[in-house]
Amino acid sequence: MDKLERIKQLIKDLNNASYAYYNQVPIMPDYEWDKMYDELINLEEETGIVLFNSPTHNVGYSISDELKEVKHNHPMLSLDKTKSVDELIEFLGDKNGFLSVKCDGLTTSLHYINGKLIGAETRGNGVKGTECLQNVLTMKNVPREIPYKDELIIDGETIIGWDTFREINDKLPEDKKYKHPRNLVSGSLQLLNSKEAASRNMRFVAWRVIKGFEHKSVFFDLKRAESNGFEIVPMWSYSNNSSDKENLSKMLEDLRYEADFHNIPYDGAVMAVDDYKIAESMGRTDKYFRHSKAYKYEDELFETVLTDIEWNTSKTGLINPVAIFEPVDLNGAITTRATLHNVTYIKDMMLGIGDRIRVYRSNMVIPKVHDSIDKSGNFNIPDKCPICGQPTRIIKENDSEVLICENPDCKGKLLGRLVHAASRNALDIENLSESTIEKFINLGWLNSIQDMYHLSDHENEMKTLDGFGKKSVEKLLNSIEKSRKTTLDRFLFSLSVPLLGKSASQDIAENCTIENTSSIGNFMQIMITDGAEHFRSISGIGDSLINSLNSYFNIHCSEIFELSKEFKFESPNIVLDEIPNTLQGKTFVVTGSVHHYKNRDELKADIVTHGGTVVGSVSSKTSYLINNDINSASSKNQKAKSLNIPIISEEEFLQMIIK
Ligand SMILES: [Zn+2]
Repeated sequence: MDKLERIKQLIKDLNNASYAYYNQVPIMPDYEWDKMYDELINLEEETGIVLFNSPTHNVGYSISDELKEVKHNHPMLSLDKTKSVDELIEFLGDKNGFLSVKCDGLTTSLHYINGKLIGAETRGNGVKGTECLQNVLTMKNVPREIPYKDELIIDGETIIGWDTFREINDKLPEDKKYKHPRNLVSGSLQLLNSKEAASRNMRFVAWRVIKGFEHKSVFFDLKRAESNGFEIVPMWSYSNNSSDKENLSKMLEDLRYEADFHNIPYDGAVMAVDDYKIAESMGRTDKYFRHSKAYKYEDELFETVLTDIEWNTSKTGLINPVAIFEPVDLNGAITTRATLHNVTYIKDMMLGIGDRIRVYRSNMVIPKVHDSIDKSGNFNIPDKCPICGQPTRIIKENDSEVLICENPDCKGKLLGRLVHAASRNALDIENLSESTIEKFINLGWLNSIQDMYHLSDHENEMKTLDGFGKKSVEKLLNSIEKSRKTTLDRFLFSLSVPLLGKSASQDIAENCTIENTSSIGNFMQIMITDGAEHFRSISGIGDSLINSLNSYFNIHCSEIFELSKEFKFESPNIVLDEIPNTLQGKTFVVTGSVHHYKNRDELKADIVTHGGTVVGSVSSKTSYLINNDINSASSKNQKAKSLNIPIISEEEFLQMIIK
């Protein structure tokens, strides 16, 4: 794969993962995300190419909904992070600072004119966000009118306290629960029904005045905001020239206490330069403000007792261990379970039932077992699958021992497989939840993916089931019908072929897509004649995946063929929202000022993204000169005219790529 291709792939995967993260279904472990992110940064530095949708130059995810998108009147960016107290001291130098809690919700900006609240928007991607005034007006702690009459723009965090979060979550079924108050806020601010929004008990916590007041000290402007009726972030003023330096660790700890006391979910602290003038002179990167630095707390460990290890059979037949422990309050969330990954993980920790263990919340979100204090090693590996009762086996996978169920008809695998097949990145069947699938399996209606496409045979019976009205049955059956339109990559991914992930499915599908022929037909043909060996030329596809594909295909060939008849296969471009190579083979020169794009580099990046080439000077090989001033007397314009090369405006260029 060449570097540009790799960049595009990384951007796609990272953006998918961010989307999933912000919508409460993380699909990628943090460390993997970080690794790919670093690779992307390095490649961008090496090639000098930064594509417009690169996560290194976006902040967070832009919320997709039917609410109105708005462009911010000031950039709303992230902060650089550190885990070191010394780095905070060094960062501030001899300047005065202020230290505050870093609230964990959704960044929101409020706008007051003449003392009246007239606008509110979420951060979104940092440049554009979502208008959310209607829902902000439901927050009891947001003043609608303030004594201060000049224009005021104030940034802060919309949060939901842990207590409300738990109350709302307790009422939701297991597969609908929110992972973190942040996710609940994100959903709540987007509610179209503000009455429902009001029931979410959201609060706005101000952390920076952007415009208005004296605009000298960030700290004192916030104090002023407080006297105007705002709830402000817990904060201390801080001076590097005083005893504060020695006390910094304690101040950071005290902030945590304050945050808990005020029921504010947080994910760290912020050290910021207090003087606006100095802060503004420090500037920003396109991702971070340089005037502030975020501090991440070390994970806090909590002691509890391991009461059991639960074993769950997954779709691949892996039987995954989960630690069950006595309820423990992990920074505000009562927790009783944490994944133990595999057999080796348990053995290495010498974990035993009845042991005192220490647990923590990784990145303040995912509960993890840190270690065992007693190290008794007292645990049993089940010799029978907890679902089907057939014998289990321990095998080596990479460097770890894992437990598997080898029974091909195991119902546990079936549930996992069907849930996977229905999921968003696979066949994307809306309204078919895990609990519904489980119910249908138990009723004997589902034994395979194909059975999902014959659920209408049970329509009448289904309508009589508890919790299944006429409407919801129709909705479900409609979603199933809708999913018959699919693409080869989704189809392949839905099969749960061991080792076949989403991006390999996409690569294989692309390889099988030849114009005017059926992609599934090509795939079957290739598998029958060459086998998966045919795909070896695709980067990232090696021996183990090839073997896995071949053995899966040998066993399930006729099944795959029968299943494929349920679908109408479309060209992947339509569904995958890939960027089309509309500009392939075309060469562009860009000159003059631009107004649609932020700058010429952004325009150039977009040309490359769409498959075109950018060069510096006009020659007979140039396809187009982009210049908004067609009549300009510049040398490039004259050269283009003399060579009969079309000069187009930005708008005309945009027309070109929209097609
Ligand atoms: Zn089993």
